[in-house]
Amino acid sequence: MTTLRGVGAALAERLARLGVERVADLLFVLPLRYEDRTRVVPLGTLAPGTRAAVEGEVQLTEVAYRGRRQLLTRISDGSGMLTLRFFYFSASQQANLARGTRLRAFGEVRRGPLGLEMVHPEYRRLSAAAAPLEETLTPIYPTTEGVPQGRLRALVQEALRALGRAALPDLLPRGTLPPGLPGLHEALAYVHAPPREVRLAELASGRHPAQRRLAFEELLAHQLTLRLRKRAVKTDPALPLADVGGAEARFLERLPFTLTRAQARALAEVDADLGAAAPMVRLVQGDVGCGKTVVAAAAAARAAGSGAQAALMAPTELLAEQHWRAFHEWFKPLGETVALLSGGQPARARRSALAAIAAGEVRVVVGTHALFQEGIDFAQLALVIVDEQHRFGVQQRLKLAEKGQRAGRLPHQLIMTATPIPRTLAMTAYADLDISVIDELPPGRTPVQTVVVSEERRPEVVARIVAACRAGRQVYWVCPLIDESDELRAQAAEETAAQLTAALPGVRVGLVHGRMPPAAKDQAMLAFKAGRIQVLVATTVIEVGVDVPNATLMVIENAERMGLAQLHQLRGRVGRGTEASSCVLLYRAPLSELARERLKVIRESCDGFEIARRDLELRGPGELLGTRQTGLAQLKVADLMRDADLLPRVQETAEQLLVAHPEAIAALAERWIGAGERYGRVG
Ligand code: ADP
Ligand code: MG
Repeated sequence: MTTLRGVGAALAERLARLGVERVADLLFVLPLRYEDRTRVVPLGTLAPGTRAAVEGEVQLTEVAYRGRRQLLTRISDGSGMLTLRFFYFSASQQANLARGTRLRAFGEVRRGPLGLEMVHPEYRRLSAAAAPLEETLTPIYPTTEGVPQGRLRALVQEALRALGRAALPDLLPRGTLPPGLPGLHEALAYVHAPPREVRLAELASGRHPAQRRLAFEELLAHQLTLRLRKRAVKTDPALPLADVGGAEARFLERLPFTLTRAQARALAEVDADLGAAAPMVRLVQGDVGCGKTVVAAAAAARAAGSGAQAALMAPTELLAEQHWRAFHEWFKPLGETVALLSGGQPARARRSALAAIAAGEVRVVVGTHALFQEGIDFAQLALVIVDEQHRFGVQQRLKLAEKGQRAGRLPHQLIMTATPIPRTLAMTAYADLDISVIDELPPGRTPVQTVVVSEERRPEVVARIVAACRAGRQVYWVCPLIDESDELRAQAAEETAAQLTAALPGVRVGLVHGRMPPAAKDQAMLAFKAGRIQVLVATTVIEVGVDVPNATLMVIENAERMGLAQLHQLRGRVGRGTEASSCVLLYRAPLSELARERLKVIRESCDGFEIARRDLELRGPGELLGTRQTGLAQLKVADLMRDADLLPRVQETAEQLLVAHPEAIAALAERWIGAGERYGRVG
């Protein structure tokens, strides 16, 4: 790095924070956007909201007091006027802007009290000699502290000059690139210094061939890294779970229902994997309420029937306890004890659970992330199940898998998620996993009726609650997402519970929030499940997994603040039985355009895939996938939504490279992803 002119050790270190360690890395710091400083826009044609370079002669410079002290400079070019406004300025600056001075300025044009203006534009005085304009569009980079924009720009240009084609070889074999896309060097030169002829709008759309060339390679690098990860995992040995005892079949026989076709198909895929001597790494994807838990339990039964252990990890204590209760009932007739490990349990209960797990006396364990902490020792963990995986990071899942690593053997992994993303996207984001889809709900469900109601009509909502309780049904009231503080949320929930208790005489109101001691939470949930509580006031702790089929009404406060995925998850707590259910989304006016659109989507659809598709349009895939969930959330150039049409070709090309050009893979991965542990262990 320090071979570049003007780069010393200190700057090199700051650059390293941007992931730039070698000169070539500089070229992979890609512009976020561009500015056009190649032409001067006449003042008379300026449009508010644009960024533009202008020139003009100072008509007047004065210090004004409008709320606060500020410097106002009016310039004119014969076609119009513009005000430059500075809140921070020095006396010499003021003197330099005297009437008659010629200026060139660059900034964002906006409407001000005196007509169009720029606040704190970049500017310089023009002397008699003509000052050249920029010849190319100006890239704006993501910066890091201590590396100013201008410096970074100069360094990138320097690197472009220093590195020829040879230093940036095309790693893609001939014929793999989609037609019409340029070579790597050409593409990089283009995006760092686009010629002035190109329209800003084309670059801003990200669809220029040079950008698509880079996006393609970036997506390919990620795809290959994930595929290699999967391949590496599959080459490790795992314990084949033969279930000679037939525990799984007995488990299924005793269920009070039969599996849906989709559940049976997913389970058959899981069973085939579990019977093999290579580790399963399978994602079961299925909408809220489709019945993923029972598929997981059947797999756990197979592990137990094979004399090995299975562990199910849930993202919240509430959910872990609920799963434990369900598993306890399901496994009792099979003679299997199910252990619970959660952060909040009493020390004695925990000690005895730990001892039984280490001795192999219990074969089925349910818990929170407490499962993979220090001091927990499994006798023979052969199956790791992660529920609601979008709540966990990749690293946490891998940590639990490490627990089961014995004598070179890896445990099988079953990962469950309700984030229903479209198929090509799933195959891209989860290329390190095999995927099963449960695309069917158990029979007899009626879609949840959803209404959007202004906060002002709260009394009508309270009347609905009374009616539901009279009919013997139960109700969730979900409290607002005030902010990230658990304490404030807890407070809001307590207040709401008190208000509802007062407003609903004769109705039993309960409360559950994240700050309650585990035992109290547990008690409230149990009481709700058993019907002793009719209205459960809760924070979003009940978002995932909670299963009380008799609850048929859900009220969500401040729904306008929640994302689509969260609303869909929350609503999934009702409509779990055969009784018709409804969901009331309370909002506080005024609604932003985005919030209005979101509420409309959720009101019109109960289909998780459809909702995810709309979510993707509204927010983009980074948010949908969750940043922790996949390294793909931090792509540099590619955009999974915009570049979705490239994905099939990315997959094909990845396959070709894996077979015919494995030597290119490491270089591609290093170029785009670096040595980071983003995807965990590779190769
Ligand atoms: P999710 O996929 O959201 O985790 P659950 O596993 O919690 O869904 O299942 C939702 C509800 O549906 C539970 O009450 C479960 O017992 C029930 N259920 C699951 N499968 C079936 C089925 N095949 N027939 C009837 N009810 C089922
Ligand atoms: Mg679930």
